[in-house]
Amino acid sequence: MPEDSRDLRPATLAVTTGRPPHEPDQPLNHPLMMASTYVAGGDREYGRYGNPTWSAFEDTLGALEGGRALAFSTGMAATTTVLDLVGHDALVVAPAHSYTGTLLELADLESRGRIRTKLVDITDTEAVVAAVEDAALVWFESPTNPALELADIAAISEAAHAAGAYVVVDNTFATPINQRPLTMGADIVVHSATKYLAGHSDALLGAVVTANDELYAVLKGRRDLLGAVPGTLEAWLAARGLRTLHLRVERAQQNAAELVRRLGGHPALSEVRYPGFGAIVSIVLTKGELSADLLCRTTELWVHATSLGGVESTLERRRRWKAEPRTIPEGLVRLSVGVEDVEDLWADLEQALAPLGD
Ligand SMILES: *Cc1c(COP(=O)(O)O)cnc(C)c1O
Repeated sequence: MPEDSRDLRPATLAVTTGRPPHEPDQPLNHPLMMASTYVAGGDREYGRYGNPTWSAFEDTLGALEGGRALAFSTGMAATTTVLDLVGHDALVVAPAHSYTGTLLELADLESRGRIRTKLVDITDTEAVVAAVEDAALVWFESPTNPALELADIAAISEAAHAAGAYVVVDNTFATPINQRPLTMGADIVVHSATKYLAGHSDALLGAVVTANDELYAVLKGRRDLLGAVPGTLEAWLAARGLRTLHLRVERAQQNAAELVRRLGGHPALSEVRYPGFGAIVSIVLTKGELSADLLCRTTELWVHATSLGGVESTLERRRRWKAEPRTIPEGLVRLSVGVEDVEDLWADLEQALAPLGD
């Protein structure tokens, strides 16, 4: 590893960061270190404060996002830890179409008098800039889940900082391959590493990343106390997943762009939403809920499942979840495009959509 890794490109960082030193008999990968405690006298002391297997994942993700990363047990553990940064009764501004878990958490904190929240149309930059005036924390998702709206992160961050607010971006959908929010004005990046970073639908994990040393120390302190630490096996799997992040994202978004091109004007669909990057596509069935449910039941390769960002293609009707906002159409199906051959993905979608277009 060169001393200064900042000049290396993402593909190289993904493959080379977070490795043991190149010395005789060192393994190329950090071993899975199962340890709840360490012999006293060093820096580690206890398993809740740190683990070298977590560090392999954290060092790699930190290099990709341009900051220092902390792994958490899940994306929601990372989210709740970050929301815990703000004081009592502070205002949190967030997109109306945030991830449902984030929306539920915000509503729960508000209902218990812990924070105040303001949900905004994140595409309306002027309105968001006005809304952040009294905020303590501005939460972004861009693209949003599953509406796939984009925010002007730089402009809103500038207004948020002028108001003295923290800027947080949930970068789960874009991944650092497509978007590095810390270079656009964000103070903190949050990830559901369960999705693209780990990438194989076999592990739950979350992460926060910041380039601000003070914030890093506060967040590390909160993780130590709240105890929302990652499982060691999960961190190891996610560190392995990161080695191919760039390849998986590139291939999946090539597939997504091609499917979007072919889906355009399909008689079964009233809308195809795609932000122009990433591998999530939302389609709206002309005949609504019933035909959306039918689509999810009649694909063969595409798996009917929630979650996203795995190597395999999945789909689901989002409004089957009670917490999904009413402004998301009943007939919206979110496609998480995987890395299979696009011709096979298309053939399967085409046969499932064909009876729904008459
Ligand atoms: C899944 C998801 C989360 C929550 O992550 P978990 O790992 O499931 O806790 C947060 N944000 C977004 C955008 C997600 O898709």
